[in-house]
Amino acid sequence: MFRDQPKCTSCHKEIERNDIVYVKMRYPDRRGMTEIKAYLNNEGEFICEECFDIS
Ligand SMILES: [Zn+2]
Repeated sequence: MFRDQPKCTSCHKEIERNDIVYVKMRYPDRRGMTEIKAYLNNEGEFICEECFDIS
């Protein structure tokens, strides 16, 4: 589903599979979470574990 590799919004490191990431996002107002990955890609801001620990 991720066409573009998601990147950390702080250090711009590419998020690898199985990495622990923090996502800042608005909770969907639509019913159902079937398109959660697409939603995350559009609305989510990913923060890698390292940057999250720093801030
Ligand atoms: Zn980072």
